[in-house]
Amino acid sequence: MSKLDNELINMKNIAISGHINPDGDCVGACLGLYNYILKNFEGVNVDVYLEPIPAIFDFLKGSSDIKNQYNENNTYDLYIALDCSDIKRLGIFGDYYKKAKHTLCIDHHITNDESFADVCYIQPHRSSACELLYTLMDSEKINKDIAECIYTGMVTDSGVFQYGSTTSETMNIAGKMMDMGIDFPTIVNRVFFQKTFTQNKMLARAINNAKVAADGKILYSIVTKKEMDECNAKPKDLEGCVSHLRSTKGVVASVLMYQNPEGTFKVSLRSEKETDVASIAAKFGGGGHKNAAGCTILENPEEKMKEIVSMIEKELN
Ligand code: 5GP
Ligand code: MN
Repeated sequence: MSKLDNELINMKNIAISGHINPDGDCVGACLGLYNYILKNFEGVNVDVYLEPIPAIFDFLKGSSDIKNQYNENNTYDLYIALDCSDIKRLGIFGDYYKKAKHTLCIDHHITNDESFADVCYIQPHRSSACELLYTLMDSEKINKDIAECIYTGMVTDSGVFQYGSTTSETMNIAGKMMDMGIDFPTIVNRVFFQKTFTQNKMLARAINNAKVAADGKILYSIVTKKEMDECNAKPKDLEGCVSHLRSTKGVVASVLMYQNPEGTFKVSLRSEKETDVASIAAKFGGGGHKNAAGCTILENPEEKMKEIVSMIEKELN
């Protein structure tokens, strides 16, 4: 029996959640698991709880079943957290997670706090939570819908198989998903290349506002609330912009800061190779991966940016 089936067996009422501000890996893993349980475990009730997901993932099977509000009347035998490094990252579902009879965490963040679930499968070397999830599944029990979810998560977190976290096993698993007949060019196009005009305008702001440090090895940028309001942009419209800063020739690390509606500031960090930004994000209460991490700060964005840039400079030396 597969490791995942072993955890699911005898469970009759299961809840699934991923991290706040869900991305393709989080949505893909939650829906991949949801479809796997529905297909293979008859008579089991399964609910997926997530914050509203970006519309680009609406094509994934089960996306319309996702609940944004917890069903207070339900007590779950098992609550599974996916692509989520700590209880805080479950947002409003964190308190309910703790109330389930059993908890399971499947994650690939290096900063994972293993103490928040009864059973943990944490493998930071995995390029995505979806890749890890697949290795725990029974491969004979996967269909095309599940393969689409897994592939979506894999391409999201590996930057379409370009980041250093990509391994030959990543490619082998992606190949198996392709063999299931998924429309992978459309998935890649939807997830990576279709940008709204607002997203492109925000990218322009992020690049325009960028400043250089460490002789061009660091690019950092703050996009103000006023600039976002001018374009009617939401924080989601700035996702991915930090990677564009990082992809500038000679740049080893990039930082992007922008304001959340409630006034806090989202910080995204990207780096390459041995430059570890996860440890820097962790110092500000955040986390992530060595080359892609984030945190939230409450105030003083300029001052905090200086601190973060100087920490990266030390990391470079
Ligand atoms: P992004 O910059 O795209 O929001 O996030 C990059 C990576 O860092 C993702 O793997 C994400 O899960 C993680 N991350 C982003 N923000 C936070 C945070 O506030 N706390 C933790 N623990 N991880 C974060
Ligand atoms: Mn992930």
